[in-house]
Amino acid sequence: MCQPFLFRKMTFGDIPVKITYSKRRTLSMKFDVTGTLVVSAPLHLPETEIRQFMNEKSRWIRTNYVRIQARLEKSMDHKVEEGGKVLYLGEELNVHVGGHGRVKKIGKDIFFPEGSDNESYVRWLKARAKEYLPPRLQSRAWEMGITYRELMITGARSKWGSCSETGKITLSWHLCMCPPEAIDYVIVHELCHRLHMDHSREFWAEVESRMPDYKKHKKWLDDNSYLMDLV
Ligand SMILES: [Zn+2]
Repeated sequence: MCQPFLFRKMTFGDIPVKITYSKRRTLSMKFDVTGTLVVSAPLHLPETEIRQFMNEKSRWIRTNYVRIQARLEKSMDHKVEEGGKVLYLGEELNVHVGGHGRVKKIGKDIFFPEGSDNESYVRWLKARAKEYLPPRLQSRAWEMGITYRELMITGARSKWGSCSETGKITLSWHLCMCPPEAIDYVIVHELCHRLHMDHSREFWAEVESRMPDYKKHKKWLDDNSYLMDLV
């Protein structure tokens, strides 16, 4: 009696593939955070069938591989060291490290004092969030004629924002890495929950009436939700 393979490594063109075998009936696949395509396959399924499955899905594989590579490149550059980059309101700022004093943003450059690290950026970003998000929410709420009870800024990594039954709106400080229009979409979305506490058709119609091009921003946030794990 020989043991079944629990996993096997191969490539699909230049894409690294890891096949994991388990008691399941269907094939499925997804990319892991390192850009490896992980295929889940039933035990004993011949490799030819797995290859055929990948050939059928080659377009999906290519598209997502390119996307994940771009994301990996971006996260590798994203650090607080000379020549690194950090994000602020959707813009990539060039990082400079040296000297003393406070963190300063001048145009597309950001200057960190000697000895700074990613935590210094996080502290700076949190402080920006406290300045940027409350007035933005206030003015949007005023324009829309919607009230809320309070705003809480958190470091949530699972979602950009939320709204409770009692009218407490929560926004993640990670939002300050995103373009202003995307931030506005999250604010509009949460304020619309003051009228509809669900994601019903009526809710989405409300969002659309307040922000006709919301789908574009929603997609941007869905595609870039990894930013919440970046710092
Ligand atoms: Zn919602």
